[in-house]
Amino acid sequence: MVYLTPEEIKHYPIDPMPAADADRRAIVRERMESVGQWSPRQQLGNRMAIGCVALEITQRCNLDCTCCYLSEHSEAVRDLPLPEVFRRIDTITSYYGPGTAVQITGGDPTLRKKSELVEIVRRVRESGLRPSLFTNGIKATRPYLQELAAAGLADVAFHVDLTQERKGYATEVELNEVRQEYIENARGTGISVFFNFTVTEQSFHEIPELVRFYIRNADMVKTASFQLQADTGRGTDRERGSLISQASVRSQIEQGAGTSIDFDASPVGHSSCNRYAMCFEINGKLYNGLDDSDFVSRIVASGDTEWDAYTKLAPASAALRWIKDHPGDLLPAARYMGRLVWKARADLLASRGRVNRISFFLHNFMDACHLEPDRIKSCSFYTVTRDGPVSMCLANAKRDDYILQPVKLETGAGKPVFWQPLSGDLHDEEGVVQELDPTAHPLSRLKGRSRALVWREREREKARAATARSASAGGGPAAG
Ligand code: SF4
Repeated sequence: MVYLTPEEIKHYPIDPMPAADADRRAIVRERMESVGQWSPRQQLGNRMAIGCVALEITQRCNLDCTCCYLSEHSEAVRDLPLPEVFRRIDTITSYYGPGTAVQITGGDPTLRKKSELVEIVRRVRESGLRPSLFTNGIKATRPYLQELAAAGLADVAFHVDLTQERKGYATEVELNEVRQEYIENARGTGISVFFNFTVTEQSFHEIPELVRFYIRNADMVKTASFQLQADTGRGTDRERGSLISQASVRSQIEQGAGTSIDFDASPVGHSSCNRYAMCFEINGKLYNGLDDSDFVSRIVASGDTEWDAYTKLAPASAALRWIKDHPGDLLPAARYMGRLVWKARADLLASRGRVNRISFFLHNFMDACHLEPDRIKSCSFYTVTRDGPVSMCLANAKRDDYILQPVKLETGAGKPVFWQPLSGDLHDEEGVVQELDPTAHPLSRLKGRSRALVWREREREKARAATARSASAGGGPAAG
């Protein structure tokens, strides 16, 4: 396998901004074709110009995950000024157009002032994009979520797993208590619930039980995302165990689902990066929703219907709209529905027709020093930086290049100023990004590896001092 070299990573070009009237899906379609990942069932290029874009509104976090992808310097970086956040929202719109899924993330975005977060959510929604909040959930109480829902929040994605080392929870099953609390916080707000989960060797065996939890809560949980541990960022648990692969995680999910699930029916981006499956939960049982490849191709190729809208009934009304716009597909649609209804007839009767949709997503981030050029070229998950959107894997491989950059702010008085990420000061000149020693930050601003390093050094110093004390008390060096 050939990987991008450090020089190539450093100078990787930013995608050019498309013309206002450009066919944005055609641009990505061409990329998918160039890396051999195109098919009529490929969602990227058919239904969407990008899978989603991360909008990192703070680099700070109130947890210290063992697999954290953030930089060692993150806690020392000030929150991006609001005008720059708004400019980046406009950038997303210009690149990918309306309907784009925007992950409002960080760090943990709830560490920003709530009034600012509300403004950001509103701005994303008013720009015609789909705002989702990515959070560990600690500060996302019910009134908090209600306020964000009123501002237009569409989804909340809770990250809950053992890598966060939440006190009092030794297993993933025990953490279901936290997940349940978060679900109840979102219930009735109109916000869709996602869960993010980092797969490590420690948690791998609990995936089936976790999937059963999601199925029991399928009335609220719309997407369960599994992210395979990768060697990137400041986290202390870096190397992926040999147990973990796309295939092994899929099989764990299927074990929990109690049925086989098709993760290949409708790709979203590069097959080495993502796997997607959509199921229906009926009477506590899962039914594969993508089991008819001809019908899936027709839906995906039609491209223009918004299936994932904001209300529970929206997918049903989207289906009716789709049939009206594609009368030639009425027969395949009826065949698809008929087969599902027949297969699930007993459960449909038992549930009185209640059906919930739940999607499973596998995301396979690359190690920072093993970036595959084809996957970067056809990336479906970008983060928006000062200079424009960048593949998340690429950004993770050189995070400091982005978070320590001074940011140009227009003052309206003709001459811009430059915001400095470490001090928050405004300078007339841009200045240069300095080489920094992460361990030089105060301990309160250290996380991950640098915190562990400083901590170890302090412990060693304490041990040395104790040895010296006992040596001087005993008149000679201590034994051992
Ligand atoms: S972020 Fe990385 S793993 Fe995810 S789609 Fe992009 S290149 Fe693939």
